[in-house]
Amino acid sequence: MKFGIHSMVWVGDWSPKSATYAVEKTKEAGFDVIELSAIEPKSFDIELTRKLVEANDLGVTVSLGLDSSTDISSDDPQVVAAGKERLMDALRLTRDTGGTVMCGVIYSALKKFAHPPTELGRQHSIETVREVADAAKEAGVEVALEVCNHYEANLFNTAKTGLEYLVELDRPEVGLHLDSYHMNIEEQDMFSPIVETASAGKLGYIHVGESNRGPLGLGTIDWDAFFAGVTASGYDGIVTFESFSTAVVHPSFSDSLGIWRKTWTDSYAIASGALGFMKNSL
Ligand code: MN
Repeated sequence: MKFGIHSMVWVGDWSPKSATYAVEKTKEAGFDVIELSAIEPKSFDIELTRKLVEANDLGVTVSLGLDSSTDISSDDPQVVAAGKERLMDALRLTRDTGGTVMCGVIYSALKKFAHPPTELGRQHSIETVREVADAAKEAGVEVALEVCNHYEANLFNTAKTGLEYLVELDRPEVGLHLDSYHMNIEEQDMFSPIVETASAGKLGYIHVGESNRGPLGLGTIDWDAFFAGVTASGYDGIVTFESFSTAVVHPSFSDSLGIWRKTWTDSYAIASGALGFMKNSL
């Protein structure tokens, strides 16, 4: 098992200075992997990023959430096309930074929907994710779809319905990305979804986040059940700590996730604490 950390624990942008800081701190705190946020793939310095992670011997994963203008579950083919382009850019970013996994809400927008998904929108999502999955296979990148709570996605909100989407998707190499924060809102317990997803051969990625997005252990998540599930599942992939605070802000990212308060102030303390918490729990 490898331990990752979301870059937004360190920095809110990806300027050369911020990228250097985030990668070096990830290494210093003892993590194996840095999860990059592909918010603006076109302005991202891929070359510099690859050199930094190689120099620090870190693995890379890339996550993103689509928005209303790139929502591949839209009824509007132009919006779907924009979303496909956005995902292909993020896939190239993943491949070219040496990344092994592309994950997140990459099957629809990450937003509060004002309506349930339409059948046409669901088909648009499935068709587009198929194309991305095929390109990812060729690029040697694994794809994992993040199961997200009902305030931030509407196609599926539980591991079970995520697995149903994957059956329809019919791309065996695509997995689910489970996140304790979202599971805590939607699932009936924190153990079974992990074990059942792994039993289906679909556990592709894991986010470890507290109920309030703050420090691990200072919220209401049943961590004993969650980590027992991870252990019982036999999962051997990347487990990534995800936490957000207004101490580190990316304007569009923080707004889309509703990060309105300082859940912590010291990135290094929160990161090293989280790594210790995950290692002790596993
Ligand atoms: Mn997450």
